[in-house]
Amino acid sequence: TVRVRFAPSPTGPLHIGGVRTALFNYLFAKKHNGTFILRIEDTDQNRYVEGAEQYIIDALNWCGIPFDEGINKNEKFGPYRQSQRKHLYKAYAEELIASGKAYYAFDTAETLDFHRTEHEAKGKTFIYNWHNRLKLSNSLSLSAEEVKAKLEAGDDYVIRFKSPQDETLHLKDIIRGDIKIDTNILDDKVLFKSDGMPTYHLANIVDDHLMEITHVIRGEEWLPSLALHYQLYEAFGWEKPEFAHLPLILKPTGKGKLSKRDGDKLGFPVFPLQWTDPVTEEVSRGYKEDGYFPEAMINFLAFLGWNPGTEQEIFDLDDLIKAFELERVNKSGARFDPDKIKWFNHHYMQEQNDDELAKTFKKQHAELADIDVNYIALVVSKIKERATFVSDFWELSAYFFEAPSSYDEKATKKAFKDNTAELMTSVSAIINTIDNFSVETLQTEIKGWITANNIGFGQVMMPLRIALVGALQGPDVFDIMYLIGKAETIKRIETLVK
Ligand code: GLU
Repeated sequence: TVRVRFAPSPTGPLHIGGVRTALFNYLFAKKHNGTFILRIEDTDQNRYVEGAEQYIIDALNWCGIPFDEGINKNEKFGPYRQSQRKHLYKAYAEELIASGKAYYAFDTAETLDFHRTEHEAKGKTFIYNWHNRLKLSNSLSLSAEEVKAKLEAGDDYVIRFKSPQDETLHLKDIIRGDIKIDTNILDDKVLFKSDGMPTYHLANIVDDHLMEITHVIRGEEWLPSLALHYQLYEAFGWEKPEFAHLPLILKPTGKGKLSKRDGDKLGFPVFPLQWTDPVTEEVSRGYKEDGYFPEAMINFLAFLGWNPGTEQEIFDLDDLIKAFELERVNKSGARFDPDKIKWFNHHYMQEQNDDELAKTFKKQHAELADIDVNYIALVVSKIKERATFVSDFWELSAYFFEAPSSYDEKATKKAFKDNTAELMTSVSAIINTIDNFSVETLQTEIKGWITANNIGFGQVMMPLRIALVGALQGPDVFDIMYLIGKAETIKRIETLVK
């Protein structure tokens, strides 16, 4: 059975790339009736940010892609915070030392800096590996007694993986295919530090193993770690999961990786939810607060790197689960287009429940405080086809709630003829006689009168619209009259001809 995990580090709010990774994991899990796990990788306490973990959980929930297993939920393989699993990792690091796959290293930061600078001066890069290891201070270069003495004296150490010389690794990635790596270019990565904390690599592999992860789906930035991860699985003698590295998300220009700063600079959110930095109190915008629907966000994110191979663009979550395949994920970077998510939002606006939209709209506008929410919902049903966000509603619908305070000049010029006042007075009289005030009766009466008197249709409808709306815009005039009611309709026509 499929078990996948999303394993963010709580170093700040989850950005759009992280949500995309979570989504692809979620889709893959659901497609295969598997389990989607949330694991918090918080071994780097220096980068820990207050509130980030809750933000991640809230964001997944808002997007509609909740985890099945993780913190406070089906904790079969818990705990799911690496900081609470700290006691586990050391034994694994020591196991690798015992089997000769890893070693203690005691080099100070100064020594390493010295070597780096010396190499740089010669135009070379210093790599801590087979080439240099014996010149340094570690359990491969020192005697057993020296090592023992250092450990007993409590000297700072790290445990490094012993990357082999002259081997070729054959890695496999579901998206990228086969990858060959020459071990001579790899460095002996640190797995464990004397402060008792594992590094990302060790904790990640141990946890994926213990949590019985079958597929690792993560961002391309982790591809360079794959060689080490393969070797760790082999060193432990564990079965490897399958790997899939998702393509980078590129700036709207297509040049370079999308960064958290692009959003504020270019005026679109890069976070699902609003985030207030606990230290600087700086607020970053979120899609939710900007009026996006989670469905739009999910549909949009699914296409960042994946496509169904057909022309279809509209996919709800169930459609995505059915259509999603890791094999259809691209290798090349996916350009982030902030206009595209607006396009999706406009689409999903049409599918929202009018009563819910009306409630949101009412909350946003003090003018609507005393207006019946059922009436607002009717108005919403008439104007939402022109709206991308609920925040567009007022501009599109104010005349449903209050008479126009002015008339658009251009429209008036176009619509007003010498006989306009006379025609409007007649229309108003006709409306006044209608007892059964409905869209149909209005239509029959007014259209009937226009035809019977051979009047140009526009000569009546244009000024009528201006009287009601103040401009030559909006939905069907008969719908507007019906909704604002008989008295208000007559009042607005009278105001126009006064
Ligand atoms: N903690 C890593 C991150 O923040 C997880 C990478 C992985 O999925 O292996 O992205």
